[in-house]
Amino acid sequence: MKLTDLKGLGEKKKEILNSQDIYSIGDLIERLPVRYEDRSNKAYISQCIDGMKYFMELKVIKISRTYFYGKSKTVSRVKAGDGIDDINLIWYNDRFSSRNLQEGESYKFFGQYSAKNKALLNPKFTNLRDDSIGGIYPIYSLKKGISQKDYHSYLKQALDKEYLDDYFDFSSYNFFDRDNLYKNIHLPDSYASLIKAKISLAARNLFLDRLLNYQYRSKINQEYISFKNQDYDKILLDKLPFKLTDSQKSALEEIKSDMAANSRMNRILIGDVGSGKTVLAILSAFIAVKNAYQVAFMAPTEILAIQHYKNFKNLLEDLGLSVNLLLGSTSSKDRACIYDDSKTGRIDILFGTHSLFQDKLEFKNLGLVILDEQQRFGVIQRKKLSDKGLSPDILLLSATPIPRTMALLAYKDLGVSYIEGLPEGRQEIVSYLVSLNQEKKFIDFAHKQVEDGRQVYIIASRVEEDDQLESVERLYPRLKKYLKDVNIDILHGKMTWEEKVKKQTLFLEKKIDILIATSIVEVGIDVKNANTIIIYDAWQFGLSQLHQLRGRVGRGPYKSYCFFVGREADNEKLSFIVNNRNGFEIAAKDLELRGSGKIYGPNQSGFMEEDSLILPKEILERVDMMVEDVIAKGMDHKLREKIDAAMKKFDEIILN
Ligand code: ADP
Ligand code: MG
Repeated sequence: MKLTDLKGLGEKKKEILNSQDIYSIGDLIERLPVRYEDRSNKAYISQCIDGMKYFMELKVIKISRTYFYGKSKTVSRVKAGDGIDDINLIWYNDRFSSRNLQEGESYKFFGQYSAKNKALLNPKFTNLRDDSIGGIYPIYSLKKGISQKDYHSYLKQALDKEYLDDYFDFSSYNFFDRDNLYKNIHLPDSYASLIKAKISLAARNLFLDRLLNYQYRSKINQEYISFKNQDYDKILLDKLPFKLTDSQKSALEEIKSDMAANSRMNRILIGDVGSGKTVLAILSAFIAVKNAYQVAFMAPTEILAIQHYKNFKNLLEDLGLSVNLLLGSTSSKDRACIYDDSKTGRIDILFGTHSLFQDKLEFKNLGLVILDEQQRFGVIQRKKLSDKGLSPDILLLSATPIPRTMALLAYKDLGVSYIEGLPEGRQEIVSYLVSLNQEKKFIDFAHKQVEDGRQVYIIASRVEEDDQLESVERLYPRLKKYLKDVNIDILHGKMTWEEKVKKQTLFLEKKIDILIATSIVEVGIDVKNANTIIIYDAWQFGLSQLHQLRGRVGRGPYKSYCFFVGREADNEKLSFIVNNRNGFEIAAKDLELRGSGKIYGPNQSGFMEEDSLILPKEILERVDMMVEDVIAKGMDHKLREKIDAAMKKFDEIILN
């Protein structure tokens, strides 16, 4: 079946889908929703809590005419009832929706309840037979010209007509097979089945990873480097303004002994945000360079790569090392220089992003690869390096604070080191759970901090206007108007890297007082003068993510504050993080909540791809069982084809 065989999908829409890399029915089905909206919460009017979203079946009683006010503003009101009670349906600046209703008819409505108006605000509605209201509603990232409704209809048709063949019998291990998996990803009929689908998806990815590892491991691990001289770290340690904690010392010893050994280091260093992992990474890089090897230091984002580079450039250059930075966006002239210097060995430490694994970049003698916040550096990349004649030691840094017993299961192929606790003298972060009603108070508080010379992060979960969640683009003008004497600026993922770097630098240089950002500031940004963070719609982030966000403050000498803007229904989850600052305990709670699904709502009952490492133990064991069975029985041709295809895809994604 082709895309254009679907009803409602002509040439024009096909082209739009193509521009989003959707060329086939398979592509369409494998594109995951960006989030889910819970429209299953059916309520009677009398049960409604202010600010929550509900789905109701209501009979329209009276449609009033639309009022115009201001320049071009409108209010349209409709009165409706559920048989017991009456409610208002109010549309602001949308005078057309209500015209599609008829008095005396019943419909399904979905919207946010306002107690003050006893109303649903700007509700969506459908007729009673339509199922886009009443369940869990997936939302896709789509381009203009294709509506959510279009996409839902395509998916429904495709999933109805096409049976999705699978490459392995996952159902024997109590995971969904491919057909059921995507039916439940796109048309979940309950939380439970959505969670099972997400777990199945993560399990499949892990399964493939493990099989790929198995295929190549033995071959790759034969080559190694041994860093003979280990004592150079003292030189660098002398230059640091602090002493390593005992926990850092023992992690460093583990790394050093791996580096000295006659085998390949393959180690992950786990520690809470701010626990001092990066310093250890730089120490090991220094040892490698002093042993006449080069080092590649890869960060997950350009912002972080730049930050690492800036933080350590002077220190390392003072010690006679040559360091450089390569980004996807480095100009071709600079790039050519870097390629040349890398090939001839003039660069000792090269910082960068994925660009460090481009085919064109060659090293004279790469000895160590450090990957920050990047758990999924698989055997494939290692094989690629081997293919280039390189067999560097690998050190991964992770701030995902999973418990040690689980780490050993999840990172089967790695040595695991821990940094426990934080260096002494860290500032307390006073955390508050607040509601949107208290906005004036916490914004005034932030303002006061700015007046005292501090800086503030404000986190919104959306970039663009969204009728559910606070967005950067809506907060920005609002706060600018309210706080006239303050430098406010924004930072989000849709900006070009130049803009991001600029904003980040401005914030670092204190030319921005309040930075309104999406969660892209979550990992690693280090601005010691920032002491306050306000997180809007905090309930819709995972606990570990909130912990990371909170970790943006409390990094300097100033007492710090974190405001979680909650909503009543999720206060249990948020209270936990308000009262707890231990990343490991928070991660454990995170897992418990994800498993239960209910409290988190469909968005955070996540186990999306990147979460595969924090799957519950029982799931990890089932994945191991699948792998062992395959190894014992051998692969059939379908599985082998899939492995080959996955291998190729990895090459494309990671190396381009
Ligand atoms: P991570 O990479 O684990 O998030 P970093 O290595 O960036 O942590 O360390 C966070 C901050 O703490 C940095 O400013 C670093 O210089 C500082 N730091 C690291 N180790 C120590 C220590 N033992 N004592 C005091 N400060 C430290
Ligand atoms: Mg770090």
